[in-house]
This record gives sequence, structure tokens and C-alpha cells, in this order.
Amino acid sequence: MDSKETSDQKGKYLLRNYWESLIMEKTKGIVSKTDMCQCEKCFLDICALALNKLPPHYVTTDRGSLMVKVPTANAKTELELTILISRCAKLVSEKPIHDV
Ligand SMILES: [Zn+2]
Repeated sequence: MDSKETSDQKGKYLLRNYWESLIMEKTKGIVSKTDMCQCEKCFLDICALALNKLPPHYVTTDRGSLMVKVPTANAKTELELTILISRCAKLVSEKPIHDV
């Protein structure tokens, strides 16, 4: 799906869900501090659960820029996100959706 880079503006911008990178980053930190399954499937399941609980927040961003700036009014507090992810991690750790 990767298209050739051209000199025009095509492909310069990406559509992304703001929460995605944020949730993945935070989930990584939280999961690593638990003794639950550390596999990629469980990690992504937690991210999916958490992301489904958040209202979508799509933004356009420059390709290549890692972090998307979002007005703080739209940002959940760190604590809220941590609680949300911890809950999702608990769900997944109790019922991993993969064969052992
Ligand atoms: Zn797992």
C-alpha cells in the first residue's frame, strides 16, 4: 500500500486516531509492570479494548511526526487513562483471547 513518494502533496498527511499511539505507549508501561501475559496479542487486545471505550478522536498529522498535538480540553487526564487501561489489562489477563 506504500505509494511512491512524489513531489506533490499526496501522502504528506495521515489520518490517525489520536488515542492510538497514546494508549499503546501507556499500555506498554502498565503491562510490563504486571505479571500478566506479555505477548503481542494480549497487548493489542488491551489497546483495542481501551480504544473502543474512548470516543474516536481523529486528527490529521504530518507524515513522520510522531506525536499529535491536541487541545488539552480534549485530553483525558493521565489518571483516567491509567485506570481505563488497567481495567482492560485485568479483563485480558483473566481471559486471554489466544491459545496458551
Ligand atoms: Zn498473551
